[in-house]
Order: sequence, then C-alpha cells, then structure tokens
Amino acid sequence: MSNLDGKIAWVTGAGSGIGRATAIALAKQGASVVLGDINPAGIEETAGLCGDVNTLSLMQDVTSEETWAHGTDRIETRFGRLDILVNNAGIMIAQPFEEAPVDILRRQQRINVESVYIGMQTALPLMRRTIAAGAKGASIINIASIYGMVAGAQFSAYSATKDAVRALSRAVAYELAKTGIRVNCVLPGPVQTNLGADWEPPRDAAGAPISPEVALAAWAAMIPMGRLGEAQDIAPLVAFLASDAAAFITGAEFVADGGYTAS
Ligand code: NAD
Repeated sequence: MSNLDGKIAWVTGAGSGIGRATAIALAKQGASVVLGDINPAGIEETAGLCGDVNTLSLMQDVTSEETWAHGTDRIETRFGRLDILVNNAGIMIAQPFEEAPVDILRRQQRINVESVYIGMQTALPLMRRTIAAGAKGASIINIASIYGMVAGAQFSAYSATKDAVRALSRAVAYELAKTGIRVNCVLPGPVQTNLGADWEPPRDAAGAPISPEVALAAWAAMIPMGRLGEAQDIAPLVAFLASDAAAFITGAEFVADGGYTAS
C-alpha cells in the first residue's frame, strides 16, 4: 500500500462516485483531502467517510477560474502545500450523433476538458512551491475514460472530450517532466455511479426508454469480467499514481475496465 502521510490532495467531483471513493482511498493512506464539488451535501457526506484526517470542503465549479484560484488560496493558507491534484469532476451526456446539438459537446467540453486545463494551470505554482520547499515531487491524475479510446453507443461528444483529456495529460506531462510534477491519466470502463443519471434514459430501436436495470445488465454483459466496475475499483489506482511509489511514471495511461478494451 502506498503511503501518503503528510501529503495534501485535492479531488474535484468529490461528492459522488469515483471522486468520493478516491478521496476516501487517499485519506486512508494518510493524505489530508480537499473535497471540491458543486454539491455541498455530497461533499459533506464524503468528508464524513474520510475518517480521522484533515479535510477541507470547497464549493467549486470546475469550469470557473475564480473558484480554482480561490481554492488554491484556501489550500495554501490552511496547509501551505499541494502534493496531489485529481481532476475527476465530469459529466456524460449520451445522445445519437445526428440528434445531438453542438451545445452538448460545448457543455461537456467545459466541464470535462477546460476544467482540467484550468485546474492544472492554477495548481502548478503551488505544486512548484511545494517541491521548492523540499517535497520529492507532485502528482496530477486526470480521469479520462475508455470512451476516449474506443467508441461506445451514442457517446460521440463525451468521447471527444475524454480523448482530449488524454492528449492534454500527455502534453503537459511532457512539458513538466523535469519539474518533478508528474501527470498521468486513468481510463475507467463502465462504473456504476451517478454519471449520466440526470439525463434522458437511453432508447431502444423502437424509441422506447430502456429501464436502468436493463441498461446496466446490458453494460455488464459487455464486460469480460461479467460485472460493472465500482468506484472502489478505480480509487486504488489513483492512490498509487499519487504516491512516491509511482515516482518514475508520467505521461502514462492506465485502463481499469474489467477487460472491456482487451478484445
Ligand atoms: P458521478 O456523477 O457519480 O460524480 C461526478 C461528480 O462531479 C458529482 O459529485 C458532481 O456533482 C461533480 N460535478 C459535476 N459537474 C461539476 C462541476 N461543474 N464542478 C464541480 N463538480 C462537478 O460520476 P462518476 O462516474 O464518479 O464520474 C467521475 C469521473 O469519472 C468523470 O470524469 C467521468 O467522466 C469519469 N468516468 C466515469 C465512468 C463511469 O462509468 N462512471 C467511466 C469512465 C470515466
């Protein structure tokens, strides 16, 4: 198990799903965790699950440069350092390409991609100061998706944003390689969370809505392991990449998908 004692980790979208499980995993390994989300109830629930570590709750819309800057100031004032940033917040809107207005792409682009760009840029100076003050390094982990790598039903706009996260992560990792700041990307397969829950249910060939149970069973059947992922399947990978055990890993991608993309 990786040791994150003394490290400060900022997780966006920490109020649910993969972000929540990641915050808990980082806390279990000794990190103090900063929980960013637009859902205050979700953040508070996560904070309660993080156990006996320092937490800082941030109402943070990841598309807003102001909330990133404000968050960085609060972290520096409270902890004086930032070792880990997990750009996890995201949304998924599934719609057949021919019916999906460009606004569907723009909305996901802002939340899934621009947020990662702004977040990395805003966090870097504090990470650099953390290293200058003696830290071995710092780690950024961006959550993309296997749908940034392979096609999935009605995911054209979502896929475009997640592939962009992969490219952005590699490019920034390359530029920062000598600074001690590592940038890696995690590509989960289908994981049972609230992702997409706010949107229209998928429809069958006749146009009738498909119930969540049927949709989830269909997903599970596509995964060689025969089950959907759980947020806890993804969090330990993020925690490893956050730790000094991953000191030589940057610009890399890690798939966790139960074998979905293996064939
Ligand atoms: P989720 O909906 O359970 O959690 C997403 C969290 O992000 C929520 O707490 C939500 O409030 C927050 N969020 C949304 N918009 C925000 C904004 N503008 N500012 C701040 N917070 C915001 O979903 P999840 O499955 O845990 O998704 C987490 C990440 O994992 C996303 O980037 C998603 O694309 C990625 N992912 C998920 C799956 C999956 O199958 N669940 C697969 C691959 C990748």
